Amino acid sequence: MKKAIAFMMAAAVCFSMAACGNNSAESKPAAGGADAQVSASETESTDTSANAEEAAGGEEQPADGKALIMATNAAFPPYEYYEGDEIVGIDAEIAEAIAKELGMTLEIDDMEFSSIITAIQTGKADFGAAGMTVTPEREENVNFTDVYATGVQVIVVPEDSEIASPDNLEGKMIGVQESTTGHIFCSEDYGEDHVQAYPTGANAIEALKTGKVDCVVIDNEPAKSFVEANEGLKILDTEYVTEDYAIAIAKDNEQLLKDINEAMAKLKEDGTIQSIIDKYITAE
Ligand code: GLN
Repeated sequence: MKKAIAFMMAAAVCFSMAACGNNSAESKPAAGGADAQVSASETESTDTSANAEEAAGGEEQPADGKALIMATNAAFPPYEYYEGDEIVGIDAEIAEAIAKELGMTLEIDDMEFSSIITAIQTGKADFGAAGMTVTPEREENVNFTDVYATGVQVIVVPEDSEIASPDNLEGKMIGVQESTTGHIFCSEDYGEDHVQAYPTGANAIEALKTGKVDCVVIDNEPAKSFVEANEGLKILDTEYVTEDYAIAIAKDNEQLLKDINEAMAKLKEDGTIQSIIDKYITAE
């Protein structure tokens, strides 16, 4: 798999979230729970503008009160999902910590994943944080910050499935979330006719449960949440592609790229980012 190599090389130098212990299980999202089963109608609202301030424990007021607008798709636990009316998760909290570093408040704008890059390009949002993978194609349209986490595309199947590895996907119907790397790579590797795209990962999982698709290719952490929340599904041991997550920013906003990278470096250095990741992801 050619692209797997490029992504793995990039992953080797990145800040990895995979191998960390001492987590507190209590703040892990309730296994995706109700959030993981969030319906399309709940995620299609485009102007939620939930403020994640509380999620990050940020009580301090910003220096100049300016709001940074983050575009995301809040159906991607544990990176972004709803807890009641509030969008919480790793990206929400990291973004909140970055905004605080920059003396700004954070507003989160929930939209479909496929709309995020356009929202950034048109200035509707200042940046996108959505477990978004750095790809060369996306880099033609937006700038990416330094990498803050690693993701892996995995394959979710019914427990009794005959699919045991990526080698068995040929000729099968694969469910994916629209415009994600899972969608892009599966279309390239298995042909568009064998890929069915849904607005959210939760919708793809629903299609799997009702037999409309044979498997779902999705990022590993949301996959875990969905499998915990839905009986009769499992994640295959063989991973499909390893990738890097970063924040996307408009090409012409070099200053924000510099500012966010500086803030992120500080938050990596002082352990804030790792502790946010540990709060949501329990090491195996
Ligand atoms: N990491 C995947 C991508 O960037 C999926 C992200 C998502 O669905 N939020 O395409």
